[in-house]
Amino acid sequence: MILEKFALSGKTAIVTGARTGLGKGMAVGLAEAGADLVIVNRSPMLETEEEIRKLGRRCLPIEADLSNTNVIPEIVKRTLDEFGKIDILVNNAGIIRRAPSIEFTEKDWDDVINVNLKAVFFFSQAVAREMIKNNGGKIINIASMLSFQGGILVPSYAASKGGVASLTKTLANEWAKYNINVNAIAPGYMATNNTEPLRKDDERNKSILDRIPEGRWGLPEDLKGAVVYLASEASDYVTGHILCVDGGWLAR
Ligand code: NAP
Repeated sequence: MILEKFALSGKTAIVTGARTGLGKGMAVGLAEAGADLVIVNRSPMLETEEEIRKLGRRCLPIEADLSNTNVIPEIVKRTLDEFGKIDILVNNAGIIRRAPSIEFTEKDWDDVINVNLKAVFFFSQAVAREMIKNNGGKIINIASMLSFQGGILVPSYAASKGGVASLTKTLANEWAKYNINVNAIAPGYMATNNTEPLRKDDERNKSILDRIPEGRWGLPEDLKGAVVYLASEASDYVTGHILCVDGGWLAR
């Protein structure tokens, strides 16, 4: 029956950047659907861990800084030691730096590209090698409205998210033959730390809200349905897709 195809009982999911914001919301959503979780973040994730355990799911928190890809093999190893397999990977960890392009520094370029794009590729590669042995899996990348648009004052972020959209399609093409679905979620404007400066700027806040048909900022909970769908059997014939959860932003 169709609702059973959305269930994630017995699945192991890794979510990066799960201390707060969208990563925390998606990790809890996957746990609500039945998955056990490996949560990865550069700082402790006590609240996320507690919420997952309260749902009766197993949770392995791993502190690691994804700005260096050297940490990835150890995360994969610890996941396999604990759970024996990886069914779902959500590449969510991301950062943003804001400055005019004319004065944007190489450090702000490299820092963002390393976490938002390079880590996404090498984490996907490391996990796909295990998924192939396990006859498939689901990889979900977190894209952005700036996978489609240029944004303002965020050149490295926009480039990284454009890259995430392209990479999602590249990996989908290559790995479909291994039963690995690679999709992305493009959140709209969501109320998290990442967008706090925009919400504090009355003019930007108003112009953003004026364009969102739903008339409100998105919340981490708004991504739960999309991530569970893309992580589940219900989406087995969906790959290379970028699912916008944006309150209608792109429809305007
Ligand atoms: P957020 O509230 O700033 O949370 C980002 C999370 O990623 C934090 O838990 C952070 O850990 C973690 N993280 C950052 N750098 C890391 C690193 N090097 N290694 C490990 N963990 C790291 O941001 P968010 O809004 O939830 O964003 C999550 C994802 O959604 C990002 O990819 C972002 O680009 C994307 N997105 C957000 C929006 C939005 O409107 N908010 C829209 C579109 C896309 P710490 O807390 O320790 O820093």
